[in-house]
Amino acid sequence: MKQISERVQLLNDKSPNNDGKYVLYWMQMFKRTSHNDALKFAIQAANERNLPLVVYEGLKFYYPWASDRIHTFILEGVAEKRKAFEKLGIRYIFYLQKDKNSPKDTVARIAKDAALIVTDDFPCFIIPAHNEAIVKKAKIPVFAVDSNGVIPLSRFEKEEYAAYTIRPKIKKMLGEYLMPFVEEKLKVKSLNLKIDCPDTEVTEKNIAKLVAECDIDHSVKPSQIYHGGTANGRKRLKKFLQEILPDYDEARNKPEKDGSSRLSSYLHFGFLSPLEIALAVKEAEAPQKSKDAYLEELIVRRELSYNFTRFNENYDSLRALPAWVQKTMREHIDDKREIVYSLEQLEKGETADELWNAAEREMLATGEMHNYVRMLWGKNVIGWTRTYEEAFAILEHLNNKYCLDGRNPNSYAGILWCFGKHDRPWMKRPVFGTIRYMTSGSTGKKFNAKKYIEWTKTLAPEE
Ligand SMILES: Cc1cc2nc3c(=O)[nH]c(=O)nc-3n(C[C@H](O)[C@H](O)[C@H](O)COP(=O)(O)OP(=O)(O)OC[C@H]3O[C@@H](n4cnc5c(N)ncnc54)[C@H](O)[C@@H]3O)c2cc1C
Repeated sequence: MKQISERVQLLNDKSPNNDGKYVLYWMQMFKRTSHNDALKFAIQAANERNLPLVVYEGLKFYYPWASDRIHTFILEGVAEKRKAFEKLGIRYIFYLQKDKNSPKDTVARIAKDAALIVTDDFPCFIIPAHNEAIVKKAKIPVFAVDSNGVIPLSRFEKEEYAAYTIRPKIKKMLGEYLMPFVEEKLKVKSLNLKIDCPDTEVTEKNIAKLVAECDIDHSVKPSQIYHGGTANGRKRLKKFLQEILPDYDEARNKPEKDGSSRLSSYLHFGFLSPLEIALAVKEAEAPQKSKDAYLEELIVRRELSYNFTRFNENYDSLRALPAWVQKTMREHIDDKREIVYSLEQLEKGETADELWNAAEREMLATGEMHNYVRMLWGKNVIGWTRTYEEAFAILEHLNNKYCLDGRNPNSYAGILWCFGKHDRPWMKRPVFGTIRYMTSGSTGKKFNAKKYIEWTKTLAPEE
């Protein structure tokens, strides 16, 4: 593996296929046609060789937690991408692999006629393994491009300890990167290229039917509120900038209000780029303290999570926790848990804690959970399970199964934050030791918990 520029890694040492008919961009996580460094690099590579570009995006049926909810959100972004790529003169193939009888190995199949492969560099979930697998199969160069954050991941040499260690570094570099994105134009158009690969037609009307035909978890229904795609993301961004950002500093901690951006799912699937959002926020008419508070979350906190999963190979387990947490967990491992709930009780939101159940309800129905109650949601499970490992496993499972923004570096950093990651020791308590403790009683006094609970009751239960 060789870092060839700040955002680009060459994953193997193969030579380009000089008879290649096109450059292949395998789009995995940056599901957008603008502000996309991987697409830009692929266009540049094609232009340098006077070749056309083919963009391939696949959706398989067997990734962990695959469900109607996640599939629908992804499919909602396909038709608009096809249209946008058509305008750019770029051949875009979308393949929905419905079950084990559907054609497989499609990337390797398209790669046979390619000069080289460009793909997305995303530091967690199934993407690193995907990239390793294509490297094993490919006889041509494979480039992985990082379009995750405002600042390239490679600008950090190691895992950062906490927000206070990464913040000054980000502040120092930000001016260099908070700049308008310069798009690249493809010279040799590729719309009419014949490609040996199935291509699934996705329209607004056939999404439900396509999803029903896939061998995935049909019990997790599509979100009632959030719909996928860049256009829907930009619609929400516009509302956020005009109506919500001015009060963000205060309202973001009020789950009963529509007071935060609710853009994390669009960011997770790459429908929106963090740079596009950051620049729009910078230019927006809003008090500086609200803009600063938002950019702290979008850049400092988010990029801390990406740095964590890039550098810590244990990011999806308690082994990623710092020494002080390991010590306090060892000391409190046998503390009596006053109440223990099963996964089933937790999943159904059947605890004695009304606020916790409301947070669970929000997640089940909408595919998101408000940041403020999400912290409480995670912390409480630590107190309600027999072991720390069981608490982690339940949180990972529920967060990734129901949240549209799950399976992301923020998912792991967020869950592990509940166990003390990126935090510091607090006062000692049973079970938690020196891990920061939160209760529904005190947290619920800081906002209108009753109103939030009532709102979640209006959300239709899952069928
Ligand atoms: C237990 C737990 C689980 C979490 N799981 C996820 C997850 O699966 N996916 C996810 O994106 N976030 C997760 N978070 C972080 C945070 O709760 C969400 O990013 C936030 O609720 C998203 O809502 P928003 O877009 O309205 O955020 P806003 O307040 O509008 O913030 C803007 C953006 O900044 C980023 N951001 C906000 N808070 C954080 C944070 N604490 N850490 C890192 N980035 C942040 C997000 O990308 C967000 O969209 C989790 C937090 C906890 C405590």
